[in-house]
Amino acid sequence: MPVKPLFDAPLAIVDVETTGAHPAWDRITEIAVVEVQDGEVVSEWSTLVNPGTSIPPAIQALTGITNDMVADAPAFEDLAQDIFERLEGRVFVAHNARFDYGFLRHEFERVGLRFQARTLCTVKLSRRLYPDHARHNLDSLIDRHNLQCSARHRALGDAQAVWQFLRVAAEERGADVLQDTVRKLSQLPALPVHIDRTVVDAIPESPGVYLFYGENETPLYVGKSVTLRSRVLQHFSDDVRSSREAQIAREIRRIEWRRTGGELGALLLEARLVKELLPVFNRQLRRASDLCGFLFASEKLNLVQKEQIHSETLPFLCGVFRSKRSAMDALRGLADEHHLCLRTLGFEKSGKGACFRHQIRRCAGVCAGQESVHAHHARVAAALTSLKTAAWPWRGPIGIVEEDSEREAADIHVVNNWCLLGSARSEAEVAELLESTARPFFDLDHYKILARHLSKGRPKVVELGAALH
Ligand SMILES: [Zn+2]
Repeated sequence: MPVKPLFDAPLAIVDVETTGAHPAWDRITEIAVVEVQDGEVVSEWSTLVNPGTSIPPAIQALTGITNDMVADAPAFEDLAQDIFERLEGRVFVAHNARFDYGFLRHEFERVGLRFQARTLCTVKLSRRLYPDHARHNLDSLIDRHNLQCSARHRALGDAQAVWQFLRVAAEERGADVLQDTVRKLSQLPALPVHIDRTVVDAIPESPGVYLFYGENETPLYVGKSVTLRSRVLQHFSDDVRSSREAQIAREIRRIEWRRTGGELGALLLEARLVKELLPVFNRQLRRASDLCGFLFASEKLNLVQKEQIHSETLPFLCGVFRSKRSAMDALRGLADEHHLCLRTLGFEKSGKGACFRHQIRRCAGVCAGQESVHAHHARVAAALTSLKTAAWPWRGPIGIVEEDSEREAADIHVVNNWCLLGSARSEAEVAELLESTARPFFDLDHYKILARHLSKGRPKVVELGAALH
């Protein structure tokens, strides 16, 4: 008897076997998808997956899936597209859905796919429909409802058992009750009380930056995504909610968003807004105020501060660091490796005779007259080159073009010597940025974002040097 109508959307009943319990570092070894349409199974599919790692013996014993069995199986990345299509547009049904959903999301993420679906957990469903029973694991359900399971702890066997449970539940509790319960359990994540759904619905599913504000317009969080609306909703979903997410959901009063042409623009804007607004819940990008670096000038090594780091000094700078402490750690590392004298360089108190580091053989002894200052400084300069920021490979400023196909427009990020002058939408705006006399400051986060972007794939770059003169 077909179960009808279980849900207005088709179902994908999923089960995965894995190398362990942690989606972040364990991998899938087998997956099964049973597709259900209008209350009937339209496809049953399963495959072993080569996890690219060894399966622990205890898990081999539990599932019967051995290293030998998966050795010739396809890797997840070879199956990803196919699996994605099987699941797309369906309600993701699994016993303890959080586990299977979490594993699949991680596997998809590793191959660059963003997976999101409504989920229905049959453990929760069983608890709602059969509240008198204490145990709701799959073995208990199989016993209680006389479900047939051809192969327990194998993906397809378990997925088939879950499907039988849905059928039995429909028979015993009635289709209406089942449908009603399913609807309640698989609802879209509830929004925080102060956020209206129309506000969220108006957010485009495009690249950009979103801003969460709390009471009194306090900036709570700034984030970026290439799919803005999904990312915002993710913050409020039960599946990923950490204590930090829960706190954001409690405190949020208003959402703002800014569209960008692509991911680069979103990354750059996010980095800038985080520094400008210092949102309560952004930790990573916040600390940059102690930026410093080494500058070798008139035979002395100077630790220069943020104000002196800009497009003109950058080519001569040895290393850029987030704090004085990390700069000194790097210098000490180099000094140990190359037996340099920190006292001669001016980073240790001056004194008479050989420095302490020479006594413990970490300094070659320029301080004890065993090496000339010139020879020592030449070695310092050579050692410091390993800390240099990547040389600017263009003759002058460039524009990195990011096409926004949806709006038939482009963002032009104007950059010189790794410093971002700004992002423009037109030639006039580009000219304005180039003509500005304000000297752009160096931003370590921007540098990393730009260096990564320019080194991968084929970024579209136009040289703007000619426009200057
Ligand atoms: Zn010394």
